[in-house]
Amino acid sequence: MQQVDHEIDDRLFRNAMGSFATGVTVITTEVAEEVHGMTANAFMSISLNPKLVAISIGENARMHQHIKDANQFAINILSSDQQNVSKQFSGQLNGESEITFATYKGLPILEDGLAVVTCKLYSEYVVGDHTVFIGHVTGVKLEQKDPLLFSQGKYRELKELEE
Ligand code: FAD
Repeated sequence: MQQVDHEIDDRLFRNAMGSFATGVTVITTEVAEEVHGMTANAFMSISLNPKLVAISIGENARMHQHIKDANQFAINILSSDQQNVSKQFSGQLNGESEITFATYKGLPILEDGLAVVTCKLYSEYVVGDHTVFIGHVTGVKLEQKDPLLFSQGKYRELKELEE
């Protein structure tokens, strides 16, 4: 493939991509009776029929192998009061806190989130230094809450604009 990105500064690229505002999810799964979680904002809805979603996981993240081993995963969409949960599952808190998981569709999920999407692994694509995992949706839960947002390296809350 033709190399076109050699003149683009890594920091500029990261800052520009990080200025795209997203929600925040924690990917959860279970391997050999052990629960694993990882904060991720590279999540998107892909298809309605069949119902498919995508997440993108870095090749160095432990979750990368966990998803392959479990063949299924849950996407926990965080609510605005779950900033510390995001920090916990991205390794930004000192010391591991005790997290309680519930079970839904055979997968560990977080309590008190905004929404949960459970998936069977449908396909995967190695793309550069990440793998895009496509999930075939097996269950959806939704609560009436506001989302936690992330942009420009900071957690944020939703604000409605005046019309
Ligand atoms: P680990 O380092 O094993 O786990 C991550 C953290 O979760 C650790 O601190 C661990 O103690 C804790 N944890 C895991 N399981 C449990 C458990 N059962 N109970 C309690 N704590 C537990 N990376 C991507 O690849 N893709 C993304 O889309 C992405 N988006 C991100 C968005 C945000 C807002 C942030 C802050 C980070 C994002 N990251 C993303 C980075 C990613 O979250 C970190 O690199 C993460 O530490 C990688 O985790 P790991 O799978 O290697 O697992």
